[in-house]
Amino acid sequence: MSELLPIWDKSELILKGFGHGRRLVVTAPTGSGKSTQLPQMILDSSETEGQIVVLEPRRIAARMLARRVASERGTSVGEEVGYSVRFDNKTSRQTKIAYVTEGLLLRRLLSEPELNGVSTLIFDEFHERNLDADLALALAKQLSESLRPDLGIVVTSATISPGPIMKFLGNCPLIELSGRSFPVEISYSGTCPRDAICASAANQVIELAPRSQGDFLVFMPGAYEIRKTLSELQGSPALRDFDLLPLYGDLSPDRQDAAVLPSSRRKVVVATNVAETSLTIDGVRVVIDSGLAKKSSFDSTRGINSILPEPISLASADQRAGRAGRTAPGLCIRLWSEKQQSNRQESEIPEVLRVDLSQTVLSLLCTGISCRGLSWLEPPEERALAKAESLLKDLGAVDSNGKPTETGQAMAAYPLHPRHARALCEAIDRDCSYPVALALSLAQDRSILLPTRDKDVLTRRDELFDVANEPFESDFLYLLRAWAYASERNFDPSPCRVLGIHAGRCRQADKLACRLLAITGVKTQRDLTFDSIDFTKSILSAFPEHVGKRRNRGTLVYSLSNGKNGELRRRSMARDAEFLVTAELEEIELRGQVGLVLGLATEIREEWLSELFPNAVTHQIETYFDQDSRTAVSRRSTKFRELLLSEKDEGEPSPEDAAAAIAEEILAGRLRPKKWDAKAERLVARINFAAKHCPQLEVEPIEDEAKRVLFQQFCYGEKTWRPLRNKEILPLLESWLSPEQTAALPSLVPEEIPLPNKKRPARLRYDSDGETTLSATIQDFYDLMETPTIAEGRYLLRLEILAPNRRPVQVTRDIKGFWQDSYPEVKRELAGRYPKHEWR
Ligand code: ADP
Ligand code: MG
Repeated sequence: MSELLPIWDKSELILKGFGHGRRLVVTAPTGSGKSTQLPQMILDSSETEGQIVVLEPRRIAARMLARRVASERGTSVGEEVGYSVRFDNKTSRQTKIAYVTEGLLLRRLLSEPELNGVSTLIFDEFHERNLDADLALALAKQLSESLRPDLGIVVTSATISPGPIMKFLGNCPLIELSGRSFPVEISYSGTCPRDAICASAANQVIELAPRSQGDFLVFMPGAYEIRKTLSELQGSPALRDFDLLPLYGDLSPDRQDAAVLPSSRRKVVVATNVAETSLTIDGVRVVIDSGLAKKSSFDSTRGINSILPEPISLASADQRAGRAGRTAPGLCIRLWSEKQQSNRQESEIPEVLRVDLSQTVLSLLCTGISCRGLSWLEPPEERALAKAESLLKDLGAVDSNGKPTETGQAMAAYPLHPRHARALCEAIDRDCSYPVALALSLAQDRSILLPTRDKDVLTRRDELFDVANEPFESDFLYLLRAWAYASERNFDPSPCRVLGIHAGRCRQADKLACRLLAITGVKTQRDLTFDSIDFTKSILSAFPEHVGKRRNRGTLVYSLSNGKNGELRRRSMARDAEFLVTAELEEIELRGQVGLVLGLATEIREEWLSELFPNAVTHQIETYFDQDSRTAVSRRSTKFRELLLSEKDEGEPSPEDAAAAIAEEILAGRLRPKKWDAKAERLVARINFAAKHCPQLEVEPIEDEAKRVLFQQFCYGEKTWRPLRNKEILPLLESWLSPEQTAALPSLVPEEIPLPNKKRPARLRYDSDGETTLSATIQDFYDLMETPTIAEGRYLLRLEILAPNRRPVQVTRDIKGFWQDSYPEVKRELAGRYPKHEWR
């Protein structure tokens, strides 16, 4: 039956194209046979030994495809055809086609860079553009251009525009299959709040069931929403003849198959976006789309990448709708409004441009590869790389030269965000990996404690979970106790609900923690008795920029090691702490200002900072101007990153430091010497003019740095402001010039200039823009036929010609032109108004 799939019509072309340069791009609609047939086609045609590795973005797809292809070839999974996903490997030495998730291939590429034993890599579903897939493609390309010219690279997708990838792969050939599809009628249900999405989807199904044909496919973001939707559907009389089937990663193989395999009864499949293009479900005629998918993105609150439901792009929504028209005309209901539709993104933004890159950067560094040196399909942004590198430095994963440290090497062994990897490494050393893994899992997802205003619930929670008797107050300990409460009751929802504890999330956190522990390979028990100091230090190690010191007693405002301030949540257990570390920094807007709210806080001890981050604690002696005593004073300050831990008086500053501190105040405009007056400023302007226009004088201009030096000289010898207030500054300015320069100044950069019709010479204005202006009335300018110059004829003065009321009539450097072109008009206008003045 598989032989009938359209892809076989093109098998000759495909094999020829691939055989040519061992690189190929294949685009074909979902269900064409890319994932199941292409690997077999290549395997059966090739003489080379070696494995064909097919990359799949999702675990469930890898498992199901392996099962399907193994059965097509009449073998069991793990023999000729196998799969390998995190925590589950079903491949053997005989395996010729291996479906693997992208992360696993990436680890393999980094640990055995020659990829021995692999003949071909197929990047399936490449339009998903996960960071790991992009990176694996870049590494594979590099490898095939160096050590492994024989390595085959195939990129496939149902929806991608192939041009850029073909170009990236050295203009490799493209095989394009177009498929038959039937029209799908799309309608919009209107706006639907997130928490109503499951009920709304269920209603649509129930309503349409009697009026439609074929199967239903409902898209939900995750397992939780899938279960909720199914429970809404359960028992509905309209669905008596339907099988109700979930489809997501954590299901047993049988249940996954049940969703995909044809059956005699009609069915409603409620799936994650794995059914968007990865897995084909035949017979679907109605699609209900929640418009959401879980996506990984940077969560600035927690400082890590996290996976949260987010709106899908227009391209994804179209793919989903298309699932209804594979076998006959279909119907798609979108659970949003047409207006919202126009706000959606055109297509998904590749992960490399969206997520925090620190984990990727670290794993590359540890194998001696530079992110910047790699040829990417789309390179990461420089800003994102710099941010990742700085976090790695903060965590002690790389040294000041950017080389991975021993800690960094240990961290890179875990497929975790570096923050969490750091905490886990610390926890292993301190023998508290289970509670820390659990705390990290609790910090990763939505809180297990549901928000409530119910006083009774809050009081009961506090009675049961309060940690006031612990040596270190911590929101984590509170959460761990709440979690233990649920765990002791086997995550039974009913007793948990009474206390507003989300049993499902508790169970999930436990699962995640056990997985983390499985990776560490440390034999630990699921034991929640631990040393709270070790626990807290482990948490602290992951969040060096989230350390806070209370600003003052009465409030909950903390100064943070990232240089900002934030306010602790009122109900935090750590509200009495002098020092704390917080795992959540939430930015909120309050009255137009962005504020930071600190959550998941844990009390720490100041001395742990230098113990855990010896390089981040710095001592500095600073001299500054004390506004109250109006004196320059010295202090020694100890800082953790940008957080001032303590300061101490250091007594009298040196004359240099004192002068510098006071000079800084003058430069900033906070202090103003009386004698820095118009006269002084005029001299500075003339000196600067000379520097610019009289090169033969070789005068240094008095600009920012020079001004600083001048004021330092001015202040030298004093420690207080008082004697400086009225101190003469002109002599100092005059000494800026040598005697020769001083002698030449009056003629080259004169203070005034004679005018033929004026008894006294006119004063020049040296402007701050570096120009010099002669400002006088029209009558003063009579008889002047040439624009005067200064600086030995090098500088033509700017003339500001004033009316009798001293308003400028014109600004010009061409007096002759003025008399000829403008004056008659000016005269006509002004003579009438000022008859008493002379008008020639
Ligand atoms: P593509 O990767 O191009 O979307 P596949 O290779 O996944 O296509 O699937 C080709 C065809 O094989 C599908 O149309 C579907 O009918 C069938 N198929 C694939 N996987 C399964 C499965 N696990 N169970 C039943 N049929 C399957
Ligand atoms: Mg496929």
